[in-house]
Amino acid sequence: MKKVRRDIDRCRLQFLGGVRTVTGSSHLLTTPKSHVLIDAGLFYGRRAEFYRVNTTFAFLPQHIDAVVLSHAHIDHCGNIPTLFKHGLRAKIYATSATRDLCKLMLADSGHIQEEDARYLKKLAHKARSRRRGRERNHEAPEVRGPLYTQRDALRAMTKFRPLHYGQRFKVTADTTATFYDAGHILGASVMLLEVRLSTGVLRLGYAVDLGRKELPMLNDPVVLYDLDYLILESTYGGRKHSSIKEADKTLCDVINRTVARRGKIVIPAFALERTQEVIYCIARLLEARLIPSIPVFVDSPLATRVTDVFRRNVHYLDRHVKDLVKSGASPFDFVNLRYVQSQAESKALNVDKRPMIILAGSGMCEAGRVLHHLKNTVTESRNTVLVVGYMARDTLGKRIVDKEKVVRIYGMEHELNAEVVVINALSGHADRDDLVRYAREAKPKQGVFLVHGDEDETRALYDALTAEGAAVSMPQKEEEVVLRCLRR
Ligand SMILES: [Zn+2]
Repeated sequence: MKKVRRDIDRCRLQFLGGVRTVTGSSHLLTTPKSHVLIDAGLFYGRRAEFYRVNTTFAFLPQHIDAVVLSHAHIDHCGNIPTLFKHGLRAKIYATSATRDLCKLMLADSGHIQEEDARYLKKLAHKARSRRRGRERNHEAPEVRGPLYTQRDALRAMTKFRPLHYGQRFKVTADTTATFYDAGHILGASVMLLEVRLSTGVLRLGYAVDLGRKELPMLNDPVVLYDLDYLILESTYGGRKHSSIKEADKTLCDVINRTVARRGKIVIPAFALERTQEVIYCIARLLEARLIPSIPVFVDSPLATRVTDVFRRNVHYLDRHVKDLVKSGASPFDFVNLRYVQSQAESKALNVDKRPMIILAGSGMCEAGRVLHHLKNTVTESRNTVLVVGYMARDTLGKRIVDKEKVVRIYGMEHELNAEVVVINALSGHADRDDLVRYAREAKPKQGVFLVHGDEDETRALYDALTAEGAAVSMPQKEEEVVLRCLRR
């Protein structure tokens, strides 16, 4: 890392990751007296690129004075253990709910990487055996250890310092920060960073990721005011979501329709947030007697542990959830809802022929228990696969969304005869209109930096904001900008 330049009237901001793409969010704020890392997300790519990008730093980890974390999604916090392994010893500031979620999510990420390393080792061993057997055209994959292990992840947790929304805290000698509700997932924050310069206090806003109004369980995003600069996400910079009310109606119709034909509803769901949101939506439909009381199974050990964190952190959730809890009820427990623990119990659901709802991981149907549920349901037209989250290209989830006639599960082909329903309205990200409105209300005096979006989405938001007369830029990866404070 370059020596800290002792400029007393300006800061520098470097966009290290999560620009012109949606993974690996990380930015470095260099103030007159310190280096502050904003988010440290894991970058996703093919194996070699994944390893290279996540272990190449534009700074020495031991030179970082503080880390501020917006939320517990892996693409925002997932590289913390790697940095810790490479010498990061700074305090990591996050809301207490984010800290609790990070403990689970980072350990799970470490576990996935350990499994992947084991798998690669096995492949390499096979390739070596083949070579010995004179099959010389088999390249051995490069064997390296996991990016980090579960143990690394848990060690890094000792650096977390939990805070609450609205609590202004000292980050470094010349910087303070305040977290406010981002309305994105439990504990997620939009952040206000204030840096003391010789010319005044520079106010930098960070709204990455930014949620939406009226999402189930969550409060609406807080607008940051009186900013000099705003760093804003652009995941859906060119798109408009359908309304949340529509999601409730679709969910209700799908359940009734499937129960009427005595089928099962399989919902591949991300363990964090989406699973809890769907449970909550089902609980509300049951309470309003809009759906029959059929068994609901949450078949994901991680989702079960994450739900426990939600139970302990209801004070982060909206008024409706708090009222429910005050009345003695729980948004995550109702008659007929069961959190499945063992593999045996999970497999037993295959022979249970009653109409039921099964929520299982992984969210994109690439691994996990959802695979055997899909294998047992997709061929029959009385069943439904309900997709409630984003499905990336080249995943089984995307092939189901595309309603391909035949899908491969565990290496075997299966006809896709089940009904496939997609609910996009539960997205936790602001859409174009929300983002434009947010930038308009926050009205930063000196400019908006657009990050966290694929090129065309970022470009679309850039055009929309420029049309409103805002000073907008779309930084490139590793681009550095100088931030000044104009106020006196
Ligand atoms: Zn997020």
